[in-house]
Amino acid sequence: MAGIKRVYAFGGGRTEGNKDMKFILGGKGANLAEMANMGLPVPPGFTITCQTCMEYYASNPPAFPEGLDEEISEYLAELEQKMGKRLGDPSDPLLVSVRSGAPFSMPGMMDTILNLGLNDESVQGLIEQTNNPRFAWDSYRRFIQMFSKVVLDVDGDLFENAITEMKLARGVSSDAELDADDMKELTARFKEIVAEHVSAEAFPALVGPDGRVAFPQDVQTQLRLAIEAVFRSWMNERAVYYRKMEKIPDDLGTAVNVQAMVFGNKGETSATGVGFTRNPADGTKEYYGDFLTNAQGEDVVAGIRHTQPLSDLPKVLPEAAEELWRVFERLEAEYRDMCDIEFTIEQGKLWMLQTRVGKRTARAALKIAVDMVNEGMITREEAVQRISPAQLDQLLHPQFDPKTQIEPIAKGLNASPGAAVGEAVFSSADAVAAKAQGRKVILVRWETNPDDLPGMDAAEGILTSHGGKTSHAAVVARGMGKPAVCGAEKLAIDAENKLARVKGTDVVIREGDVISIDGTTGVVVLGAVPLVEPEVSGDFDTVLSWADEFRTLGVRANADTPADATLGRKFGAEGIGLCRTEHMFLGERKAIVQSMILADDGSPERAAALDKLLAVQTQDFLEIFATMDGLPVTVRLLDPPLHEFLDDPRALEVEIVRAEAAGADPDELAAKRRLLAQIDSMVEANPMLGLRGCRLGIMFPEIYGMQVRAITRAACQLKKEGKDPRPEIMIPLVSVVTELETLRKETEAVVEEVSREMGVKIAIPVGTMIELPRAAVTADRIGAVADFFSFGTNDLTQTTFGFSRDDIEAKFLPRYLERKILARNPFETIDEGVAKLVEMGCRLGREANEKLKLGVCGEHGGDPESVHTFHRIGLDYVSCSPYRVPLARLAAAQAALAGRVSGSDNR
Ligand code: ADP
Ligand code: MG
Ligand code: MG
Repeated sequence: MAGIKRVYAFGGGRTEGNKDMKFILGGKGANLAEMANMGLPVPPGFTITCQTCMEYYASNPPAFPEGLDEEISEYLAELEQKMGKRLGDPSDPLLVSVRSGAPFSMPGMMDTILNLGLNDESVQGLIEQTNNPRFAWDSYRRFIQMFSKVVLDVDGDLFENAITEMKLARGVSSDAELDADDMKELTARFKEIVAEHVSAEAFPALVGPDGRVAFPQDVQTQLRLAIEAVFRSWMNERAVYYRKMEKIPDDLGTAVNVQAMVFGNKGETSATGVGFTRNPADGTKEYYGDFLTNAQGEDVVAGIRHTQPLSDLPKVLPEAAEELWRVFERLEAEYRDMCDIEFTIEQGKLWMLQTRVGKRTARAALKIAVDMVNEGMITREEAVQRISPAQLDQLLHPQFDPKTQIEPIAKGLNASPGAAVGEAVFSSADAVAAKAQGRKVILVRWETNPDDLPGMDAAEGILTSHGGKTSHAAVVARGMGKPAVCGAEKLAIDAENKLARVKGTDVVIREGDVISIDGTTGVVVLGAVPLVEPEVSGDFDTVLSWADEFRTLGVRANADTPADATLGRKFGAEGIGLCRTEHMFLGERKAIVQSMILADDGSPERAAALDKLLAVQTQDFLEIFATMDGLPVTVRLLDPPLHEFLDDPRALEVEIVRAEAAGADPDELAAKRRLLAQIDSMVEANPMLGLRGCRLGIMFPEIYGMQVRAITRAACQLKKEGKDPRPEIMIPLVSVVTELETLRKETEAVVEEVSREMGVKIAIPVGTMIELPRAAVTADRIGAVADFFSFGTNDLTQTTFGFSRDDIEAKFLPRYLERKILARNPFETIDEGVAKLVEMGCRLGREANEKLKLGVCGEHGGDPESVHTFHRIGLDYVSCSPYRVPLARLAAAQAALAGRVSGSDNR
């Protein structure tokens, strides 16, 4: 495959890429190139493309494509020239890092190797050049450690144990207290570990003349193996898992960045750190991050040493700090967004090692978007497009009930907002197992690492005793939108024995003990703290009010109770798209409903029961219509199979047998037997497809009559009080137009009668739910007699596919998804076939009746992707659960903006 360009240079005066090339260079490579283009201090290097990684996997067994070795040599030569040093040079060696970098950020998912190019000779050169044997030997032992772990698959604990032994032998407590000779000795010890633990079969190239495996001294071999290891890390278990979780395609591949090393471990004027141009937790415009002096690489995020906040940098290294703040400003101006960065300061000189648009909490996302509009950096359209609907969900996370007195047992960093309550578990596997049993857990760890992802995913919240706000646990929890408290140092965690002691007290948290954490404040409490829904911030309202300006799709709420209606209104619903009436038949009213169903047609018992129901239903509607004053409320007449309101016949049978044995009154027994026979006669083989929906209205006209009466009475009464009730009556499960014709006539008759009785003029629109394929394909007929359609996409999905939701979700959907027979759960995101029926229903319906109002009231109305589909189809509104109303408003705006020509600026 000659002619393919696989390697791109950056830094040192010649850069070939830029920030728009992340699918070729990966995010890290593209942004390194961009920073070099901006003239920022970036150590030079080169990037091997993501496509090369996929080429590597295309051969069997995986192998470097032909020509790659040569291209790498060419670019290495260029890098050596830029640096004026050669890789492996015994007197003045160039050292490089080999870094992974996929098109989407996968924090900590892949492996990085630092200090490559050291061997027994070049370490001497490094000593001579730096006059710092401790630094040189420390670098060499770090290299062996990382390389062996990442490339040669040696268990990392072996090295850590060797370091611990060394510290014990020297009587010191930190790595920093080990001197040059100690580091040299460790290097020798590490090489022994390699010889003992690396398999000769897996790495035949490393077997020496004595038959033993030796750590590779040849720097070209080091480089080639390291690059290959990065390619291989694309397919490691945790990377595959992360991609699955984040829905990142498997075929993107990772790029490999080979970059000249700079050193943050050259003494007290050297440092390494990570930062954000604004606070990623709450959005405040401030410099935010952590750094460590005299440290290298992952030391900051690993939580090994106590980091300093970035705001302290000016005190420690004033000049470098000033330059860093300038870089922050330039990056924000260039990316027009909050950036996160990784940097190293080598003997006072700042070097930029990474940047990207940074992850943030929902709260921060809103604040940053609003601030940037006010700063004139972005437009309102951009602000609206930058917030992901899923992120808004985070904001609706619960908090500790402020009315509760809490006694914290520990306090850590407020690493990811929201509160959570659950049983303490001490390993990822335990979290996963508990979740599978339906238990809620808090994952308690010293610090998390990528292997903990499944457990973090399963937990309600995460609590660690180590690590800062940019530790693995903090970053990943924020990405997942999970509450997390990090660095709660008072906890002494004993994961092996599944407990944590609270230092200085006799409190012990054992596995299964319920604890509560508040990731917004960092507080940890023993026991369950009651949670409340949060009040949303002004930024939330600001961004959503902008969204409302841009969207054309209406958003209503599904609400059955005045409380839900109030919530929907608070979240900006423009009406109720689905008010179900069946719950109004439950609770203490169930007995009345039963006697109504079981009474004979036209009997006085039935009339009496209906009268009682009429009174309570009227009250229900009064409250809901009053809450939604001035806004439409679509009331669905009774829909579920009637027997759902009746006793379980099997239980009744048992009752009869018992009563008989106990010598019950024969009349009473006979009544019970009649009841059983009646219920039996109503049991259906497939209730979902049985006597329900409008079929009930045809079979029991009195029930629908009563409901329509209650709706009309409530509306007329409110009108008399000067209010503005806007009910709409929706008839469910229509399949043939004659059903709707018949029921519409009956409905209108009742409305007219009541309105005459009460002396109030009222017109109530009558429409239907489209939830059967027959209705969708004959929507021209049905549309002619309907004022509105509301697509019931839950049932429409069931009836289109011919499967019942509960069964498929529990039984075969997981397998269907795994085998990619279905790309996604059609009950979450509207399926293309179901969407076609909706589209056809809309078109045919409007052809017959151009005033027909069109909505969706299935759960898809709250799914952002489905909202895009409904916008495209041209519906008038979607209706979803009150909590999803803000998401739907935002998604509708984004759908409208996506359809516009971009680049317009109407600030
Ligand atoms: P990740 O993608 O996991 O963040 P990186 O490739 O960014 O991994 O490497 C991790 C850390 O290693 C960096 O944050 C930086 O501190 C250090 N590092 C990487 N390359 C270099 C380099 N050329 N010089 C100095 N330190 C480096
Ligand atoms: Mg990094
Ligand atoms: Mg339905």
